[in-house]
Amino acid sequence: MSLIVAENIQKDYFAGEVTVRALKGLSFEIEPASFVSFVGPSGSGKTTLLNLIGCLDKPTEGTLKVVNTDVLHLDRKQSASFRGSNIGFIFQDFNLIPVLTVYENIEYPLLMVQNVPASERRKRLNTVLEAVGMTDQKDKYPDQISGGQKQRVAVARALVTNPKLVLADEPTANLDHKTAYMVIELMKKMRDEFRTTFIFSTHDQKIVGEAEILYTLEDGELKGKEVKGGGGNG
Ligand code: ADP
Ligand code: MG
Repeated sequence: MSLIVAENIQKDYFAGEVTVRALKGLSFEIEPASFVSFVGPSGSGKTTLLNLIGCLDKPTEGTLKVVNTDVLHLDRKQSASFRGSNIGFIFQDFNLIPVLTVYENIEYPLLMVQNVPASERRKRLNTVLEAVGMTDQKDKYPDQISGGQKQRVAVARALVTNPKLVLADEPTANLDHKTAYMVIELMKKMRDEFRTTFIFSTHDQKIVGEAEILYTLEDGELKGKEVKGGGGNG
């Protein structure tokens, strides 16, 4: 069964007298454990689309199911709870909390949204720290590690709640090419290890080749789908 089913979704922003149609009727399905990228220039609708999939906003028209849930009918509280149990987020500017250590940053979502006992928290922390190769950096603060390491921490933080889906909006925009490539490779490795679906957006042609399923967005429309195989759907 598909993890995400979008049918003819449209998104309008109303700014005073002006309506901006950011998404113009997109339909697609994404299977569990896929490694998917939406690529397109600035303004093509990538952030808008990821915000809809992440239940941070709702489509103006169309239907959208995420993890077997019709997300259109969730209220704010239900959306927040749904996100907390099902979705991890990775951001362009890492969004680590400066006064918390690497360990504490990764632990944060478990304390905030999931009622996980201390022993289980420690177990999960150790698992994801090890998986992203940051165990020996766990007591450092964000300003003591590199950009690439910060994004590793963010990947671990996104995974610690055992989500079905991780969304990453231009996760490599603030990284040099070599580091960007390594972060995408790490995400793919995490997909292999945890069978979590990863969806990332980018306008960087140098990393899109890493996606197994590549959707091209142009001016709010899906212009193409390229399937490169890989381990995603078996
Ligand atoms: P991308 O992430 O690919 O750069 P966005 O999803 O941010 O694209 O934007 C798609 C379109 O929607 C653009 O034309 C943008 O100006 C417009 N847009 C995005 N957010 C808003 C908003 N909150 N209000 C009005 N227009 C918006
Ligand atoms: Mg964007």
